Amino acid sequence: MIPFLDLKKINEPYETAFQDKLKLVLDNGWYILGKELETFEMAFAEFCQTKYCIGVGNGFDALVLIFKGYIQLGKLEKGDEVIVPANTYIASILAILAADLVPVLVEPKLETYNINPDLIQEKISPKTKAILVVHLYGQLAEMPEINKIAFQNNLIIVEDAAQSHGANNNLKSTNVTLSEGEEHLSASAYSFYPGKNLGCLGDGGAITTNDSGLAKVLYSLRNYGSEKKYYNDYVGVNSRLDELQASFLNLKLPNLNADNEKRRAIAKRYITEIKNDKIILPFWDLSSNHVFHLFVIRTTNRDALQEYLTQNNIQTVIHYPIPPHKQKALLEWENLSFPITEKIHNEVLSLPISPVLTAEEVSYIIEILNKF
Ligand SMILES: *Cc1c(COP(=O)(O)O)cnc(C)c1O
Repeated sequence: MIPFLDLKKINEPYETAFQDKLKLVLDNGWYILGKELETFEMAFAEFCQTKYCIGVGNGFDALVLIFKGYIQLGKLEKGDEVIVPANTYIASILAILAADLVPVLVEPKLETYNINPDLIQEKISPKTKAILVVHLYGQLAEMPEINKIAFQNNLIIVEDAAQSHGANNNLKSTNVTLSEGEEHLSASAYSFYPGKNLGCLGDGGAITTNDSGLAKVLYSLRNYGSEKKYYNDYVGVNSRLDELQASFLNLKLPNLNADNEKRRAIAKRYITEIKNDKIILPFWDLSSNHVFHLFVIRTTNRDALQEYLTQNNIQTVIHYPIPPHKQKALLEWENLSFPITEKIHNEVLSLPISPVLTAEEVSYIIEILNKF
């Protein structure tokens, strides 16, 4: 069986170095908010070309804390509306709800699976205060257009970058330079869940931003709203990236660009060598440095194709089978209609892609797909 994602194989090369790190952490006797985290925050900020990085407990908390930070700063208030793509992983939407804000769903483009900038303006109301952009499957959304809409309408941009570690940083909202005097509020949320392009050995996450005011609040919000121990300035939470996870990420980060390059090489082979009229391949904007967290194809015979691949020992996964507005958890939305989103959820299938997938495995997958 070719597994969809072989995490054991991905993490194996770091085992010896990690044992040394483990010993170091044990010898230091310091487990939370220490040197490994500081090192990682500096390295990841540099990697993302941002001024600040704040390590947190997971990707969901990263999103929630960005919203809570802006609420604390008076830039958002409870009940404000946040624009979000309708086909995102539900975590993005749950994070908006967890911050007492109101998600407003917008259809994606069928070709890119990312939010359709042309449909944003009509969803903007006087209560709209932010856009949560999701760079789904590892491809950046259309940031020049989205940034423009945000600046024209005075909206905060929050980026869900849980699937896009290393995608073109200069296009990301945090790195867009405005003319002097223009306010630019934006921050990105990352997840280091084991299966992400940069994954740790459990839960982990981070926020990156150039906004010094926001960063200051976030360093405190993640730690019970306290900067000085037992002095609490905000109603914070406990969401910290611990020393062991940070140390593992410090070992893996230097290889992230090379790992993404391996993913792109596999994607390139899939795109050029899969030749089957029944299969729609992903659109790849070569200028935007897709990091192929997932390689997602579409077909009207999705379930049959998945069954066929399983029969041929190829494991695939559906990202995602049910759109957020059709989930039981969000029953109040069950009558909403998002035809493109629903079509995507009915037709998508993710093929194996990872830095450890071998050339032979890729060849075999292509051969089997071409026979479908
Ligand atoms: C993984 C993911 C998250 C959540 O990250 P966790 O670390 O699992 O909390 C949020 N948004 C998207 C798009 C994701 O893929």
